[in-house]
Amino acid sequence: MSARIIDGKAHAAALRARVAEGVRGLARAPGLAVVLVGEDPASSVYVRSKGRATREAGMRGFEHRLPADVAQADLLALVARLNADPAVDGILVQLPLPAHIDAAQVITAIDPDKDVDGFHPVNAGRLATGLPGFVPCTPLGCLLLLRDVHPHLAGLEAVVVGRSNIVGKPMAQLLLTESCTVTVTHSRTRDTFAHVRQADIVVAAVGMAGLIRGEWIKPGATVIDVGINRTDAGLVGDVDFASASEVAGAITPVPGGVGPMTIACLIRNTYVSACRREGLDVPKDL
Ligand code: NAD
Repeated sequence: MSARIIDGKAHAAALRARVAEGVRGLARAPGLAVVLVGEDPASSVYVRSKGRATREAGMRGFEHRLPADVAQADLLALVARLNADPAVDGILVQLPLPAHIDAAQVITAIDPDKDVDGFHPVNAGRLATGLPGFVPCTPLGCLLLLRDVHPHLAGLEAVVVGRSNIVGKPMAQLLLTESCTVTVTHSRTRDTFAHVRQADIVVAAVGMAGLIRGEWIKPGATVIDVGINRTDAGLVGDVDFASASEVAGAITPVPGGVGPMTIACLIRNTYVSACRREGLDVPKDL
């Protein structure tokens, strides 16, 4: 194996420690409200770990569990209450939502200045136009890992595989803001291989186990694997780690790469929200 393994767990622990230190300097504990609709087992696990990370950072966690058949109006009423609650700095509605609920309407109902997931169209617009807002946690985590490998990202060729609103599109915006030359490939791209082969940076966010193999990777490239795929062999990413790590210069493992950064960035965004709401400067090294 030639690639340096990017240790997402260690990066995430360091970020969480910096946030916890910042929180200790605040006059009040930041609050994160997490709303879970239904009993989806994966979502329950995510919500539990978000709650744990919140408490470990010295923040207040407010968990709201609603039944799977909750009326959309009741969910929207809860969001309105959380928007108005001064103890709440961040609001996160765990996705996916049940089919009878219009997720876009719920996300749009969240106060953009408490939208620590960064999914509100106002925050997507802020990211696209370079205004301060909230950046979705997973691509933000990827950027922090990339910055560690490449202190100077400007001019690098980056390929983002996948164009979801949650990962691919905001990732592309972030890399563009860093002055990378960005290509986004997706399910209708004629030849994703040809694009990936040229890239100094590859971010894979598709949801297909082992789609990107070693022979696709330019020697020395940095590979960030966002994919989480449950297979008989356990959790694997969108990148075939065994072959890609022979060729890449640096690579994130799955698990232990991007995943831990996502929650750490959620904690970070909640802290940033509290700072802004208290009129304090946000520390630059976050
Ligand atoms: P999504 O299903 O919303 O989007 C997948 C994207 O992949 C689409 O834009 C689609 O066009 C593209 N795609 C499909 N087939 C392709 C192909 N053959 N070549 C190129 N592109 C193709 O998924 P998502 O929400 O962006 O998540 C992607 C993956 O990342 C999933 O495995 C998900 O579980 C994982 N994920 C991980 C984290 C984390 O914290 N690590 C967070 C969010 C998502």
